[in-house]
Amino acid sequence: MTISGSNDRLAWQREGLYFNAFGAFLRRQFGGRIQRVSLDAGFTCPNVDGAVARGGCNFCDNRSFSPSRRVRLKRVSEQLDSGIITVRRRYKNVSGFLAYFQPATNTYAPVDQLEEVFRLAIGQHPDIVGLAIGTRPDCVPESVLSLVEGLAREHYVSLEYGMQTMHQPGLDWMNRAHNHEHMINAIDRSRGRGFECCVHIILGIPGETHEMMMQTADEVSRLGFDAIKLHNLYAVQGTKLGDEVSSGKIKMMEQDTYVNTVVDFLERIPPTTVVERISGDAPPKYLIAPQWCLDKSTLKLQIEAEFDRRGTRQGSHYVAPEIDPDLRPRPADNTPQSIRDQIDVRGRLPVLKIESTN
Ligand code: SF4
Repeated sequence: MTISGSNDRLAWQREGLYFNAFGAFLRRQFGGRIQRVSLDAGFTCPNVDGAVARGGCNFCDNRSFSPSRRVRLKRVSEQLDSGIITVRRRYKNVSGFLAYFQPATNTYAPVDQLEEVFRLAIGQHPDIVGLAIGTRPDCVPESVLSLVEGLAREHYVSLEYGMQTMHQPGLDWMNRAHNHEHMINAIDRSRGRGFECCVHIILGIPGETHEMMMQTADEVSRLGFDAIKLHNLYAVQGTKLGDEVSSGKIKMMEQDTYVNTVVDFLERIPPTTVVERISGDAPPKYLIAPQWCLDKSTLKLQIEAEFDRRGTRQGSHYVAPEIDPDLRPRPADNTPQSIRDQIDVRGRLPVLKIESTN
């Protein structure tokens, strides 16, 4: 899409920032403060319903994905209206919103229904400037990418991939039920199609050494994502991980280790990559550990102070990959057939909350 603002992905360096922060990026793009409004359209997940596995990721509270709970969800249009009111109450100077399809796997539905729900969200309010769509790397067959590409011709669209780590033991530990080949395949089919490709990474996975996390940083650089969300591993109630943390079986990363790891990570990725998050958290009443992630402002100050102490910035230790990501060939689609069966069908999922209130 054509955005009226600056598309200079290195402007942050002239602004004296330590990393390519998302808020400032959006302000440059859209000329004002942009906030996300989180939406739950009623999607489920192939890692929950049995298409690829059951049980879901060990950190994900996917009990809410059951059809019986889905029917009680408010419609997307209502969620957007009330979300916009809430954000406007909290922040005085918001000029636009991103409709953020956040929980579950938001490309896991018949593609005509996906189009309906995404277009409904974009058209719901004049101040909605674009979409962010969270998904898994094994859940983007060509039909979905073509749809997202089409939407991105008219609007800002970010497709957010849960890669989490490049290492199979970590993926297995989380019960992701996809492998890193799915991530490589998805990004190599997504890049250069007009939408932003954002990657989610978790730092502090048990068994992963500092060196392994840095290998993941280098892999993010090699694959050429446009944006990244870094999360510390955190545990919430009602999850397998939460039980293991409560029983003392699993220990969370310490705060100072996390701060140093984030800085090490950001130093290795390209300066052009937009940094959408530097930590993850959950509402205090659900969070088990670590408690330090609740204080995001202190964490941000500590990360900036560490950059300052080192005299470095995002990308200071970035080494360009041998093959420019833009020149990587587009591979054949490796989406599992069990997932395609759910997306490339003509049926409709009754639980999706796409009816308009108008
Ligand atoms: S893939 Fe995403 S939605 Fe599905 S269980 Fe894992 S974290 Fe939850």
